[in-house]
Amino acid sequence: MKNLILLGPPGAGKGTQARNLCEAFGFVQLSTGDMLREAKKDQSELGKKVANIMARGELVTDEIVIGLIEKKLTNEENSKGFIFDGFPRTLAQADALRDLLETIGQKLDHVVELYVDDEKLVQRIIGRFTCSSCGELYHKTTKPPKNPSICDICGSKDTFNYRQDDNEDSLKIRLLAYYRDTSPLIGYYHAHNKLRKVNGLGSVDEIQSKIRNILS
Ligand code: ADP
Ligand code: ZN
Repeated sequence: MKNLILLGPPGAGKGTQARNLCEAFGFVQLSTGDMLREAKKDQSELGKKVANIMARGELVTDEIVIGLIEKKLTNEENSKGFIFDGFPRTLAQADALRDLLETIGQKLDHVVELYVDDEKLVQRIIGRFTCSSCGELYHKTTKPPKNPSICDICGSKDTFNYRQDDNEDSLKIRLLAYYRDTSPLIGYYHAHNKLRKVNGLGSVDEIQSKIRNILS
């Protein structure tokens, strides 16, 4: 059993790589971004509380995301391992994760840093959208669907969904939050001898196989 963090700026490809690893090896993906978007969609108290913060591109409080992760870690049946995607994002979250894993008798094995330069991140994020029924990712210039309103993969009509924070203003704030609050984790995990760097430029499959090499 292996526990893995995917670390990197918005648009680095964490979600895509996490999904592929889960499909291939049965990991459980824990994405705090997905959990928070779920909460927003359900109109829960939590969802209402975080909606504006997320739309602006700022970080929600450590307390909230640590609470979400704690609930999953203590309830999830899992024998293959966890992939943390978008968590931890601050040093306080990293400390909390270490303690939580210890409580359930586990440890962190690897932290994979996906690095991509800012210009490329902006290109990737501005114009991306997903099919809300199957999760397939598209991009208006680099990967458009064959028919503008139909998903190539599952055939659903009018299910394309744009993230509210994938606009230039919010993205600037998300990048700032990454460099200010999250990038110190690179040093933190390097110091703990867990950090592995992977170039996030390249095909999805190339990057996937580099990550698999780290796991094996
Ligand atoms: P990104 O593409 O920016 O990596 P995510 O889907 O991981 O996006 O997260 C979207 C938003 O959800 C973030 O901009 C932030 O507002 C909130 N969020 C997600 N995870 C965390 C976290 N660990 N700590 C604080 N805020 C978070
Ligand atoms: Zn689809």
